[in-house]
Amino acid sequence: MLFKILFTIWFFLLGSAVGSFLNVLIYRLPRKESILFPSSRCPSCNHKLAPKDLVPIFSYIFLKGKCRYCRAKISIRYPLVETLTAIFFALSFWVYGWSFHCFKILILFSFLLPIFFIDIEHMLIPDVLSFAGLGIGFFLSLLEGKIYQSILGSIVFGGILLLIYLGALLILKEEGMGQGDIKLGFFLGSFLGLKLSLLALFLSYILGGVISVFILLFKNKDLKTAIPFGPFLISGSFISLFWGESIISLYISFFIK
Ligand SMILES: [Zn+2]
Repeated sequence: MLFKILFTIWFFLLGSAVGSFLNVLIYRLPRKESILFPSSRCPSCNHKLAPKDLVPIFSYIFLKGKCRYCRAKISIRYPLVETLTAIFFALSFWVYGWSFHCFKILILFSFLLPIFFIDIEHMLIPDVLSFAGLGIGFFLSLLEGKIYQSILGSIVFGGILLLIYLGALLILKEEGMGQGDIKLGFFLGSFLGLKLSLLALFLSYILGGVISVFILLFKNKDLKTAIPFGPFLISGSFISLFWGESIISLYISFFIK
């Protein structure tokens, strides 16, 4: 038990460090900057940041959310991403322990979190994340002996989105979603397999519908242009990954008594 607690704390710290790197991806990928060079700088005054400015979560708290050099406000996204990743890593280890499944969902999370934030801010999903994620999804499934499930999930998840996209293009003469969403679908399917992919798609559209109505009511935005679909695909996939089996058996139990 003591070891489990110590390792959970270690996973929390590991997660916060990974989150710090994900912040770099979120800022630099959509701006087409290198993710390795140069070292981190304040986006406002361009001052090089010292190691003491880059301690995940704590630097933000210690600096009260302002740059040490120019006092410009630091986006809340930085500590948010670090904290979310830290909590997700710690919880995953606590629940799944030293397992292949734990490793797999930590990898998946590390790809999806940056896509989530980049899509919300820039309305785009970098191809490099979707393609690398798809490759890793196939590779991990191969190791697990579930490669056929993975290929089938990918074809169905991405394929259905592609059909909806082409349908909207043909009938409504407009793009119903971005092409990035379709590539993301192929990637998600490779991790989820067939059954969970179908549920994830279904949940994504329900979530998308419900939340779009709320955003329209309160922010009065133009639905078609203002709301990216990627975050819904990601949320639907996570619900499906963690609670999919329970949701499906609950659903079946309604019909088989
Ligand atoms: Zn600054």
